[in-house]
Amino acid sequence: GTPAYPDDAPASAAAMARARAVTPGGVNSPVRAFGSVGGTPRFMRSARGAWLEDLDGRRYVDLVCSWGPMILGHAHPDVLAAVTQAAARGFSFGTPSENEVALAEEIVARVDPVEQVRLVSSGTEATMSALRLARGFTGRSVVVKFAGCYHGHVDALLASAGSGLATFALPDSPGVPPSSAGETLVLPYNDVPALEAAFAERGDQIAAVITEAAAGNMGIVPPDPGFTQALLRVTRAHGALLISDEVMTGFRASAGGWFGLEGPYAEGAPDLFTFGKVMGGGFPAAAFGGRADVMAHLAPEGPVYQAGTLSGNPVATAAGLATLRGCTPELYDRVGTAARAIADGVAQAFAAAGVPHRIQWAGTMFSVFFRDGQVRDYDDARAQDTAAFGRFFHGMLRRGVHLPPSCFETWFVSGAHDDEAVDHVLAALPGAVEDMLTP
Ligand code: PMP
Repeated sequence: GTPAYPDDAPASAAAMARARAVTPGGVNSPVRAFGSVGGTPRFMRSARGAWLEDLDGRRYVDLVCSWGPMILGHAHPDVLAAVTQAAARGFSFGTPSENEVALAEEIVARVDPVEQVRLVSSGTEATMSALRLARGFTGRSVVVKFAGCYHGHVDALLASAGSGLATFALPDSPGVPPSSAGETLVLPYNDVPALEAAFAERGDQIAAVITEAAAGNMGIVPPDPGFTQALLRVTRAHGALLISDEVMTGFRASAGGWFGLEGPYAEGAPDLFTFGKVMGGGFPAAAFGGRADVMAHLAPEGPVYQAGTLSGNPVATAAGLATLRGCTPELYDRVGTAARAIADGVAQAFAAAGVPHRIQWAGTMFSVFFRDGQVRDYDDARAQDTAAFGRFFHGMLRRGVHLPPSCFETWFVSGAHDDEAVDHVLAALPGAVEDMLTP
């Protein structure tokens, strides 16, 4: 079909010019800047259900869903009511409040190995704190992460380094001291021999392995069958903790996140989990939690310090609670059905045009790789046609579909992606594929 919108977006461009003057790159989180696809990022003025509306009054089916949180759709009436009522009772108390307890109970009830949680305000805080706790609990300092896994902008985790053999990482970013990234071992994802080799060499120094329960930040790369089990076996054998980062997959891949799909495991359970995104319902709320005996090392019960002025904020916890209560089996059916319809449409449109592609899944989550063949790790994921993705992205945008602006991202749908929204995406595909093929 014919594009609905021109490529220039005057109101967004004007807002971006103002933003650039007062904010580095004009954005408050780098990927929003359209760095890898080019063009003007659209400034949104409202969002409802499956749709975004920008400053030029253009409407887009949203396949970003705020990078995961908006699983019920935007401005869901139940969440809106909960937030409005909570806000009317005050914005922040700086004391304990009941919603915090209710949200913790909801999380503990959904993920079996999680006995206790501590609430924080972002996924980054959750992984940073889980790492400190693991180091405090074990008295060790080395942490193992996997290339292509993102755990927020924590100093020690902003390292992906080269693949292949275990090497102590170089920081990915200036400002991260070598002393910080130098305690981080980076291994290829899904590589059990590399894991075993790292532990054979330094097992007594390793405090924790942190992994995305199913990777979603290099596109969707689920653990191979047996990989999670190997992580459990090796960490248990060497007295290290396993931290399962479910900031993205938690309450999204399934009601119980990735653990709810793949677990329980005969080898044991991850010692700590991190959550964010869906559990905050679009507000700043995140959590880390797990074994009660490990969590007991946190202040004020134990010596490992961790705190937050806005942790457990009453408005954010109200949003998270209302969102999780809307995360029913029926909701996951709806999200999964919409995701399947969109993924099938993409596969058909690409196949019809002879475009190499690969779609991978983690429960109700999927992503599209612009290459053939199975993607098992970061090296595989990086071998994509990123230029083709950029043309496809803009082909979709000018037809009223907002994809994540990078080919390394998960495509997020919500329970509000009804037939109208899905049909709109399907109708946009052939024209966008045509645009992609005409550089
Ligand atoms: N862990 C994972 C797996 C994530 O996907 C993200 C964010 N995309 C984070 C941690 C960091 O969360 P936040 O952006 O809320 O700090």
